[in-house]
Amino acid sequence: MVECKYYSFYALAKINDPELLYEAFQQQIAPGHADEIEVEVYEHSDKRWKRLTRSGGLDQKIPRQLLSILTEKFGAEDTGSWYYDSDIEGWLCSYKPLTSKHFVLLVKSSDPDKLIEEDYLQFLFHFYCHQLQMLQGTYRDALTGLYNRRAFNEKIMQLLESSNNYKRRAKNYAPTVFVMLDIDHFKSINDNLGHLFGDEVLLLLAQQMTESFRDNDLLFRYGGEEFAMVLMDITPEQARETLQRFREKIASYKFPNVEQVTVSIGFTHFDKGLSMDELIGQADNALYYCKTSTRNTVHCYQDLVEQGLIPVMKAPRTPKVEIF
Ligand code: GH3
Ligand code: MG
Ligand code: MG
Repeated sequence: MVECKYYSFYALAKINDPELLYEAFQQQIAPGHADEIEVEVYEHSDKRWKRLTRSGGLDQKIPRQLLSILTEKFGAEDTGSWYYDSDIEGWLCSYKPLTSKHFVLLVKSSDPDKLIEEDYLQFLFHFYCHQLQMLQGTYRDALTGLYNRRAFNEKIMQLLESSNNYKRRAKNYAPTVFVMLDIDHFKSINDNLGHLFGDEVLLLLAQQMTESFRDNDLLFRYGGEEFAMVLMDITPEQARETLQRFREKIASYKFPNVEQVTVSIGFTHFDKGLSMDELIGQADNALYYCKTSTRNTVHCYQDLVEQGLIPVMKAPRTPKVEIF
């Protein structure tokens, strides 16, 4: 039986992404026994199964046999069920956290003569769930389940650093846009109906965001009734269409007890070696333009500047931060 070393995992307090757990599993969970146990993590995102790679990326090429097991044996809401497959000689376990993707752990012994004990499987599973829950508590907003402000700061920083490095090396850098979204006249919803109804609007809006954007887009509750998004692999033209569709969807969505909720959306190109303040400032300036014109609109910072409707941003306007 492999000896379990809980404490060494807890020392990995810096883990800030579920992907990194995979690496940690291999190296930390059973020091000295890593050769005996293989753990792989599969996640269901963008309607397909992908394998988390050691480097933290996602590999879409899953062996057909395994893919059919993942597809057939595990339902979308399945959590906690174990399944042993004699062909692949491994245990598969499904975990679906409340507000996150669906994961399946594959645990195998690299020595076919050594069976993995059930206790150890349970330990791995519970440990994994616990780590994900901790990550969610730290990086997810409690009301909406979206990424919170802390996750925002870390993820945007990471992306800015990686996009800068990447751009230097590759010409075909996939375009990305950064979006700020603010609910129009939200205060009046609170004032007229009370905070609880206001909260419900925030929750339902976040649900609509999660349904409307792709799994690899990043969705944040930036603060109060302001949201931020990073839309991946999308041109500014496509982003405008997607965001317009979303704006219309919200304007016609039936929120309970509220006649109509509208949103204003500003976005900017996510590139050119911007600092975080500049990136936020640009999107926020476009959003501010919506607020000073008609609200319930979508505007792009670069287009507004080109049309002479706003000046090129100098010092970023400090975005309003609400404590919630
Ligand atoms: P605008 O169209 O200009 O954005 O107007 P607004 O009323 O949406 O914006 P304002 O900044 O005046 O008000 C935002 C309100 O959001 C004030 C604050 O009480 C409320 N708010 C912030 N966080 C929460 C929350 O977590 N729950 C609820 N119910 N209300 C919140
Ligand atoms: Mg508002
Ligand atoms: Mg606001």
